[in-house]
Amino acid sequence: MDCLFCRIMRGELPAKKIYDDQDIFVFEDIRPQAPTHVLIVPKKHIEGLDKASAEDAEIIGKCHLVAAQIARDRDIEDGYRTVYNVGPGAGQSVFHLHLHLLGGRPLGWPPG
Ligand code: 5GP
Ligand code: ZN
Repeated sequence: MDCLFCRIMRGELPAKKIYDDQDIFVFEDIRPQAPTHVLIVPKKHIEGLDKASAEDAEIIGKCHLVAAQIARDRDIEDGYRTVYNVGPGAGQSVFHLHLHLLGGRPLGWPPG
């Protein structure tokens, strides 16, 4: 699959890997927007949340649980955010499903 995140997961492009299991790959965002900014990516190529189906429910849930564990490990549980940008209007720029985990600084609401 000629997709940026599929290529990263295959090791064809470098990334700072944080976690890897049979279903999920996690790495540091190249342009961090907070002291912790990691991307939690299902290994299955799903273009975005809007393209996910019922069979993806388990992996989507697992992405969130991995995010919560990383937040625990990094001691950012005072306040963190998990975000799916869905569609160009929300800033999605890579069309392989990925959950952003942001934390380590105060996070305003609503987001921009
Ligand atoms: P989106 O805008 O689709 O919600 O999120 C894509 C994210 O991927 C952005 O936060 C962007 O900084 C990150 N990103 C884009 N290209 C690369 C890359 O080559 N390596 C890494 N580690 N992150 C990337
Ligand atoms: Zn992909």
